[in-house]
Amino acid sequence: MEGKIIKGIAGFYYIHAHNGVVYECKAKGIFRKDHQKPLVGDDVSFTELTKEPPQGNITKLHERKNALIRPAVANVDQAVIIFAAKHPEPNYNLLDRFLIMMQEQGIPCLICINKCDLLTKEEQEQIRKNYEQSGCDLICTSVKTGENIKLLEQKLRGKTSTVAGPSGVGKSSLVNCLAGAEVMETGDISSKIKRGKNTTRHTFLLALWQDTFLMDTPGFSSLNLPLMEKEQLRFHYPEFEPYEGTCRYPGCVHVSEPDCRVKEAVKEGSIAGLRYENYKLLFEELKQQKRY
Ligand code: GDP
Ligand code: ZN
Repeated sequence: MEGKIIKGIAGFYYIHAHNGVVYECKAKGIFRKDHQKPLVGDDVSFTELTKEPPQGNITKLHERKNALIRPAVANVDQAVIIFAAKHPEPNYNLLDRFLIMMQEQGIPCLICINKCDLLTKEEQEQIRKNYEQSGCDLICTSVKTGENIKLLEQKLRGKTSTVAGPSGVGKSSLVNCLAGAEVMETGDISSKIKRGKNTTRHTFLLALWQDTFLMDTPGFSSLNLPLMEKEQLRFHYPEFEPYEGTCRYPGCVHVSEPDCRVKEAVKEGSIAGLRYENYKLLFEELKQQKRY
């Protein structure tokens, strides 16, 4: 049988099988054979030992597409980062750090600005424009009005996504709303969604629909930049790419050099000022780190 590891606790792996049943499995054989440690997100083959309770034994780990370190999860298709339009106010510096971190790991990002019922159309448009050239997809959702919930669903379907965001942005509301919509269609998901807010969390994947998994990561309020030379930071900004090599100085980092095409583009408004200002802050931070 085939399935995906959705949770691992104390030597047991919980496998969401293609038939929708969750099997409790051991992985003795593959430890011995390949010295491989299964990760949440791994696609596996397993043999069924008993149907009731569903138990089995993992026989094979399928090749991984990728593996993240934090959170420890394999085969992630995308990272969804959720911020609120307001309450709490979005922290774009934190958002950009997150994008850089995911970009380093080669994971595409979807930015979800929730509570967009608290914004005017113009304000929404401004946010969209700021991230238009960031290389990331961005959608504005509202659990309250239902705006773009279907679109979010489309973007999640058939994929494994990590979902991150500061607390209070409506992450739980969004996931419940998505799962709730599906309850009406299939009627069997509600029990999978109940999770305590204050219980100890193990890394686990939530099977939202068949072939659609979400990995909830704890809310965070700060993020360190990945280790890199400050001169490398600019390559994490797709906005700068068209100008790379066209500034007066070769290797221009677009901060204090004269005749910088990136700075000109910011002035003309072809690069979002918000993104550029955060770039400068992060550049300065990397510069300071180097001194210690
Ligand atoms: P989490 O900490 O990110 O999981 O956030 P919650 O889902 O617990 O939501 C935090 C608060 O925001 C709750 O009071 C929700 O009712 C509210 N909220 C969630 N989504 C929306 C939304 O789309 N619009 C508005 N106005 N409030 C929302
Ligand atoms: Zn430059």
